[in-house]
Amino acid sequence: MTHPRSAPPTPGGGAGRYAPSPSGDLHLGNLRTAVLAWVLARRTGRAFHLRVEDLDRVREGSEQRQLEDLAALGIDWDGAVVRQSERDAAHTAALQELGDQGRVYECYCTRREILEAPSAPHAPPGAYPGTCRDLSPAEREQGRQRMRELRREPALRLRAEVTTWQVHDLWAGEVTGAVDDLVLRRGDGVVAYNLAVVVDDAAAGVDQVVRADDLLSSAPRQAHLARLLSLPEPHYAHVPLAVNRAGDRLAKRDGAVTLRDRLARGESIAEVMGRLGASLGLAGCRTAADVLERWDPASLVREPWVVDLPG
Ligand code: GLU
Repeated sequence: MTHPRSAPPTPGGGAGRYAPSPSGDLHLGNLRTAVLAWVLARRTGRAFHLRVEDLDRVREGSEQRQLEDLAALGIDWDGAVVRQSERDAAHTAALQELGDQGRVYECYCTRREILEAPSAPHAPPGAYPGTCRDLSPAEREQGRQRMRELRREPALRLRAEVTTWQVHDLWAGEVTGAVDDLVLRRGDGVVAYNLAVVVDDAAAGVDQVVRADDLLSSAPRQAHLARLLSLPEPHYAHVPLAVNRAGDRLAKRDGAVTLRDRLARGESIAEVMGRLGASLGLAGCRTAADVLERWDPASLVREPWVVDLPG
């Protein structure tokens, strides 16, 4: 099946993407964000890529179901689907590059120690207190010994030289957010999301990041990492979250919230797409292409989308 586009992707013209975690079926909020990511990319002549963020929280069969659901709504994508778990060499090379710049250090702290440590003066709330930043070689040896006893690897952290960074978001405007000594590789040896996302977006030529706004506060850190790695900082557009009637983030326990749940309740794909369109102020949408044709990004309601479903 093909779908109309406002313009074909221009070579070298940048790309948008959708990057789901394959932890279960996408709910209506996820699907709405995916539609908007696709629409904004296609509107601006960009390619559109799908990346499966399968470094953890993987549920068997979920990836295939998510791809089917996106296609059913009329979302298409360019090139092969990228799996984050297959990008280890690129993630390791980025860690190496930051290491070569002297910006990586080992951290032996447990989560509890971090929570209990007094925070550094002038540090943003929740920032890593810097416990392991400037240890002596002997202290590092003690830390490594402790990690061996705990059967963990030290986490690797960024030696941040800024405390804030600014990004531009299509809807939120200029956003200044905290940058601390964030984790680059976790104690279980898995690359941290913040680093993987930056490396993988840049490798795919992604210069437009559209996703849910629970990640808006992570954008400054990610843009800063991009800068340190001499990668272009993308344009951001963070879409309000979907919430239930009580105002809590939409979740499985809220009932029939996925495309498949709605189909099982007797709705058609076009009707589900109609709900997504209605949440954007558009009546009568039947496929993502209708949103592509008619939606005005300036009309986006910046409040969370309250999903109120029958059954
Ligand atoms: N995988 C993340 C999620 O499903 C999205 C990450 C991103 O778009 O940067 O919430």
